[in-house]
Amino acid sequence: MSTRVAIVGAGYAGLAAAVELARAGIQVTVFESSRTLGGRARVVEKDGHRIDNGQHILIGAYTETLRLLRFLRVPAGRLISRPFTLHVPGRLDFRAANLPAPFHLAVGLLKSRQMSWADRFAVVRMMRSLKRMRYELPQDCSVSQLLADTKQTPILRELLWEPLCVAALNTPADEASAQVFINVLKDSLAGSASDSELLIPRVDLSELLPVPALQFLALQGGTVNIATPVKGIELDEDGEFRIVGNPFEGERFSHVVLAVGPYHVSDLLAGFPELSMLRQQVDAMEHQPITTVYLEYDESVRLPEPMVAVANSSVQWLFDRGQLGGPKGLLAAVISARGPHSELSREELGLRAHQAVEAMIPRLAAPKWSTVITEKRATFSCSPSVLRPLHITPIRNLVLAGDYVQSPYPATIETAVRSGLNAARHILRLIKADSEAAESAAD
Ligand SMILES: Cc1cc2nc3c(=O)[nH]c(=O)nc-3n(C[C@H](O)[C@H](O)[C@H](O)COP(=O)(O)OP(=O)(O)OC[C@H]3O[C@@H](n4cnc5c(N)ncnc54)[C@H](O)[C@@H]3O)c2cc1C
Repeated sequence: MSTRVAIVGAGYAGLAAAVELARAGIQVTVFESSRTLGGRARVVEKDGHRIDNGQHILIGAYTETLRLLRFLRVPAGRLISRPFTLHVPGRLDFRAANLPAPFHLAVGLLKSRQMSWADRFAVVRMMRSLKRMRYELPQDCSVSQLLADTKQTPILRELLWEPLCVAALNTPADEASAQVFINVLKDSLAGSASDSELLIPRVDLSELLPVPALQFLALQGGTVNIATPVKGIELDEDGEFRIVGNPFEGERFSHVVLAVGPYHVSDLLAGFPELSMLRQQVDAMEHQPITTVYLEYDESVRLPEPMVAVANSSVQWLFDRGQLGGPKGLLAAVISARGPHSELSREELGLRAHQAVEAMIPRLAAPKWSTVITEKRATFSCSPSVLRPLHITPIRNLVLAGDYVQSPYPATIETAVRSGLNAARHILRLIKADSEAAESAAD
């Protein structure tokens, strides 16, 4: 059988897998149901505006994503880099200093005027206690429990840890996994100063990685079929996979990377009785939403910082796209995870977002244009009890990739990219093992 790999799903995980396989000389065919590449990190066209389905932030610790972007020759300027900053107008202004770790945080804490000494000591206590336990909890618990155990002050909980938890895990602190939160803190805030840097795409999310990946795949002789929903995967008696929905009916594949969101896995694997446990496992995963409200104001409207955390509002973050390479006056209000806001109508969400901006810019006129995008299943719910599947499956040549697959990290672009690379490297090992077995059989 010739080696041909089918990749189902052209999100960041599927594309990372495709690039990794293609660069090793493997023939790949990607199937994507949508017309747009990028999955949950993609561009959306609305009323003549090209906006992302949600504001995304990358951080310096996204080593594999950054490596992949460099490999694809994406210019570094496509990401705006800023020191780690948490600005809550009138209440907290924390920015990491331009110094090597850990001084970037220590000096940032000292300089943050609104923090009391009790707050500063509590942050240091938490980071030291995590370091002492080598960032490994004996037993996972909720982030709220961790904050209580390390005696974090009410101000820190409200303005620092809980917003960071929701931003990183897209799960409220009382439901979120403390161990995953600690893993994120270890790699970002406790890492080098550059690891904690915030990287904000200057281009849309389909342009950032998917388009360069597509160009690379085309040069390598790979095929990317967009607007091609896969209906199922079948294995014939010769051990070859058939992709149901593939317009080229006769095509067969030696391996498959299934890189769809977790809520699409079960249907596509319905034909494999040996995968019923896996299907039950992914079906049991819960999901959390993210709503993004885009508001277009007059060009003169500008936030005090490109990224502002909002207290006492349904809105958690405001981004000034005008200061981030986008059109002046365009703001994005982000409302992550489940909460009382989940019951609000689109109109009410739009109004709350406008009110959050108005609280910073008095006498603000109504926006010229606005739109509300809710991704109901933006990420899986990252709780201590969640069971994430392994990338390998009981079907030898069928592997999983995606942000929900077993990993120490929450559902992010970096987790998706790493899982795609893992899936590809696993297939490369299988191919090598098969060719060695064939060679020794021939001898
Ligand atoms: C609003 C929002 C904001 C976010 N903010 C951040 C952030 O700030 N930082 C961060 O790192 N992460 C963020 N994330 C998370 C990040 O976007 C995801 O973790 C990542 O994009 C998941 O990639 P994936 O490839 O695993 O899955 P997906 O992106 O879901 O890719 C799966 C692909 O499979 C395709 N597909 C599904 N079914 C089929 C089928 N039957 N046939 C063919 N194709 C199919 C889908 O169309 C999709 O393109 C955010 C997510 C959302 C929604």
